[in-house]
Amino acid sequence: MHPDQLEPALAALAAEHRLRQRHALHSPQGPRVNIDGRDYLAFASNDYLGLANHPALKRAMQQAIEQWGVGAGASELVAGHFAIQQQAEAALADWVGCEAALVFGSGYAANLGVITSLVGRGDAVFADKLNHASLNDACVLSRADFQRFRHSDLAHLEALLQKTPARTRLIAVDAVYSMDGDEAPLRELLALAERYDAWLYLDDAHGFGLLGEGRGALVEYALHHPRVVYMATLGKAAGVAGAFVAGSHALVQWLVNTARTYIFTTAHPPAQAAAILASLQVMQQEGWRREQVQQHILTLRQFMQDKSLRLLSSRSPIQAIIIGTNEAAVGMAAALRERGVWIPAIRPPTVPAGTARLRVSLSAGHTAGDLAALLAALQQVAR
Ligand code: PMP
Repeated sequence: MHPDQLEPALAALAAEHRLRQRHALHSPQGPRVNIDGRDYLAFASNDYLGLANHPALKRAMQQAIEQWGVGAGASELVAGHFAIQQQAEAALADWVGCEAALVFGSGYAANLGVITSLVGRGDAVFADKLNHASLNDACVLSRADFQRFRHSDLAHLEALLQKTPARTRLIAVDAVYSMDGDEAPLRELLALAERYDAWLYLDDAHGFGLLGEGRGALVEYALHHPRVVYMATLGKAAGVAGAFVAGSHALVQWLVNTARTYIFTTAHPPAQAAAILASLQVMQQEGWRREQVQQHILTLRQFMQDKSLRLLSSRSPIQAIIIGTNEAAVGMAAALRERGVWIPAIRPPTVPAGTARLRVSLSAGHTAGDLAALLAALQQVAR
């Protein structure tokens, strides 16, 4: 980007209804938020269990700040690895049924760090077309031969595996796709990984906390296996921030020694680990939260059944209503906002051209009344 080109490029984005703008929240995250000074009923966050503003998590973090201070002050391998972080990692490993876990600053950092530490030049990575951007960036950065297969198309993946010679292979998928809400065929993918001697890398950003009684896709599909690398984020259903990778002791030791986004960054604040521990406890004790989201998903899907709007198949809290053009999606989101309902319009390049959509995110924080208000608003704007 040449300095003279900045302004015209932004104008071009605006003309295509693709200029993104940030809106400031003046309230905590939750089902009802104040955005830019106005109150909305929101279906826009990944706070699927309603934990981001949960009193137990807040209390745990406040107490941990008193005990451990605010900043970690150093990278993990220098002097920034706290006992409370060790405790959180052990609890996460236990929760998902793995030997060990390693917490990263974010899901983006975890994907970049782990994939580049497992594959490099001379290796090959096979990625689903709808994978999250951070996985794609990780694959490019790894310098491995980067092949993408059609969404959840096992035959296409197998054809690529067959014709791509490589020292080490890695298949990377989202367990639950972030913009569509559907799930990867995980058991079949593991069978292919076994047949072609590959790692299977699962990004469970949107399944953790929901699938497998909250323990995530690994538990839901009984996928514990030495060639499976499990990654889940902690800023979505878990309500905190960061991400973790789980697997064998050897895998975690390897990552501690080689994952550059783990090694060359300041450790996350120790109080974050306390909030993660509290979040796991709430997930265990408040199973009604998962049931509540399931109920909301059913309610929305039943309502949409006989509507002209196209709802993608999904049993996750991500429910995508395909609108088509950017302009139409942006228009519908604006019409909903006028009715006090905040639903983001997701446009290319986040999703393929022509599939701009309203991405409805449901949460245990929503009440049955909130759902009724959502359906009424959708009914009005769909007309
Ligand atoms: N993977 C997926 C599938 C995601 O949806 C996201 C977040 N949008 C990430 C990774 C990145 O995680 P984080 O927000 O913690 O960086």
